Amino acid sequence: VRATKTAAPSTRRSSKQREAIAAYLETAAHHPTAEQVLRAVRKRIPALGLATVYRNLEALVRDGHASRTMHPEGARYDTRVDPHHHFTCSVCGIVENVDPGPQETKWIQAFQRSTGAAVHRVVADIRGVCADCRRR
Ligand SMILES: [Zn+2]
Ligand SMILES: [Zn+2]
Repeated sequence: VRATKTAAPSTRRSSKQREAIAAYLETAAHHPTAEQVLRAVRKRIPALGLATVYRNLEALVRDGHASRTMHPEGARYDTRVDPHHHFTCSVCGIVENVDPGPQETKWIQAFQRSTGAAVHRVVADIRGVCADCRRR
């Protein structure tokens, strides 16, 4: 009985943290890192730590509510879970989604035909200068 009594508040606290992290991720279009999520969500939950943020982000990924992409700068999180690519601005670091086009399917099929390989995923790390930075 005592175990359930002490477990309940911590479960409530962790689901509140997960909700706050998921809510922030939903509004953040820039594919934040765990550190950026921590900085933003700490405004609402000051006691939040980086380990908790990582744990909750990974749980969201595991449950299919978010995706993680590895960038040379580290892991970034996204609420989009369908296959897509990322464009990173080398000036301001903003990350934008790039949808796979029909041309992509064509060359992957050609590659599979010529090599006999089975492609499971395609990730393009597209680099350049974003429209805002080009205007500056
Ligand atoms: Zn930029
Ligand atoms: Zn994305």
